[in-house]
Amino acid sequence: MVGEVENSTQPPTNGNRGWAHWPRATAMAHAAPRCHARCKHSRKPCGNPAVKGRRVCRMHGGKGGGAWGERNGNYRHGRFTKEAKALWSRMRSERLRLAALLRALDESDGSEAGLEAKMRAAGLL
Ligand SMILES: [Zn+2]
Repeated sequence: MVGEVENSTQPPTNGNRGWAHWPRATAMAHAAPRCHARCKHSRKPCGNPAVKGRRVCRMHGGKGGGAWGERNGNYRHGRFTKEAKALWSRMRSERLRLAALLRALDESDGSEAGLEAKMRAAGLL
């Protein structure tokens, strides 16, 4: 044997038994994303570390909740799922755009420039 091979999975220590990295570890813990929930009483943000991949801490529902969609026990027909609501919202905005387009067509003088001006006024262009 020529020399002892460094083969440790432990972080290097400074002779202080594994505490060499605590300032860095503390800084990383403090830099963790924070909970966005607001305290009922003080009205201040919660500030606890958020659960990984969530906006809120474990006390504010970060660990989960009910299953979504058909997997939820209260699911009935899907009329009020996020997807259905988004679809209705898109359909409504398209309907409003079409109504505005029809109004612009009605109000225009028949020329292309006139239609374009009316469409521009209605925010369609
Ligand atoms: Zn919280």
